[in-house]
Amino acid sequence: MRAQIVAKAMRRVVRELVLLAGLAAVSLQINSLVHADDRPNFVVIFADDLGYGDLGCFGHPTISTPELDRMALEGMRWTQFYSAAPVCTPSRAALLTGRLPMRSGMCSNVRRVLFPDSKGGLPASEVTLAEMLREAGYRTACVGKWHLGHLAQFLPTEHGFDQYFGIPYSNDMDRVADAPKGMEAIFNPKSEYFNVPLMRDQEIIQRPADQTTITKRYAEEAIKFIQAPAEKPFFLYLAHSMPHVPLFRSQEFAGHSQRGLFGDVVEELDWSVGQILQALRDSEHAKNTLVVFTSDNGPWLSQKQHGGSAGLLKEGKGTTWDGGMREPTIMWWPGHIEPTTTTALGSTMDLMATFAGYAHAQLPTDRVLDSIDLSPIIDGEELRPRQQLLYYRGYELMAVRLGPWKVHFQEQGSYGTLPKNLTKCEPPKLYHLERDPAERYNIAEDHPKIVQRALNLAQKHLSTTESAESQLEL
Ligand code: MG
Repeated sequence: MRAQIVAKAMRRVVRELVLLAGLAAVSLQINSLVHADDRPNFVVIFADDLGYGDLGCFGHPTISTPELDRMALEGMRWTQFYSAAPVCTPSRAALLTGRLPMRSGMCSNVRRVLFPDSKGGLPASEVTLAEMLREAGYRTACVGKWHLGHLAQFLPTEHGFDQYFGIPYSNDMDRVADAPKGMEAIFNPKSEYFNVPLMRDQEIIQRPADQTTITKRYAEEAIKFIQAPAEKPFFLYLAHSMPHVPLFRSQEFAGHSQRGLFGDVVEELDWSVGQILQALRDSEHAKNTLVVFTSDNGPWLSQKQHGGSAGLLKEGKGTTWDGGMREPTIMWWPGHIEPTTTTALGSTMDLMATFAGYAHAQLPTDRVLDSIDLSPIIDGEELRPRQQLLYYRGYELMAVRLGPWKVHFQEQGSYGTLPKNLTKCEPPKLYHLERDPAERYNIAEDHPKIVQRALNLAQKHLSTTESAESQLEL
């Protein structure tokens, strides 16, 4: 334990030296002084549309997730960790750039995500987590759903990943003309109803992708990458296509869960997490790998039993109530993270600064980042570096969070829920999320100063922030 504490302290001193110097050249010199093995590997496992309440360790009564439960017991369970947007494309752009989606143009008030006919994607000018880590000497892989542009110039291999294997957008797209109409194709799905491509690097290798084996094949690819003999540390971004509808699982998981098909799918994801953690243990990477499990947005409630659950949180995917953006999050790093639950605030955007610190990588300095280094929490210090969160829907700032408080300036439902149109909250609504996580009791009248603080923060942010042109409307 003592050696660990010394190692942590040394890492911190080196990191602070890098920060003080603030120069890539110095960072590189320090890298060469630090043996590559001292820098951790990073694995991000990103589920699609998994709700806050969909794991055993987050309270689901009938979805069995023993592997994620074990990961949580051995690691750090985050109960107030957020994605940066309530839908796929902007959420992914934010995680990989450490920036609010409006800064990169990866959001829209019109088309909320990218589609197979979209011409846009993540601009080349953005610096991704993969580019940053590759520059710092990491090998990098993207496995799974991309959804940041499927045209050649936008694919993962153009954005810092050495390799890619996956479906480049949502698994419910490219519906074929003779598939059953309406929800029937979703609720009784077959792979052939959805002509989505499966790609390796820049090539389509299967179309339609066989979705029944997709979770298993993603796990196999991930494990192959982890086990590849290499001197360099690695960054693996594994973005599952599941449990986004249409729901598919392999034969072995058919009828596996008391929760029905959705439960089968989550239980297969759980199995795949177990396989990956075991591969890390077997290859002796475990003690030097930070694994983050989280989800891109809340449950898709309009899919009824085919969508997940936000547990005690309000609403789901598409909305800026907490059910749309708070994610079941676990971090695991045996021997480094003390097993615990944290109620500190965190955002997927924070992975950029957090990983940069551990990797002695250089964060971009020529642009605004919205990323906060969460390493003090991961290292077990009594600090809460993030105090604020901005809740965006497309280009609209909907709400802010200040410590335990959340103030809504605007509201809008999603996928058939009310209010249908963007509706100003006049006056703004205030909730205490630590005492009222379901956002039921508006207490704005009792706390005018908190509301004013939130209004000031929003005004300052909006008056100093530039939005990029939308890539989703091209
Ligand atoms: Mg999603």
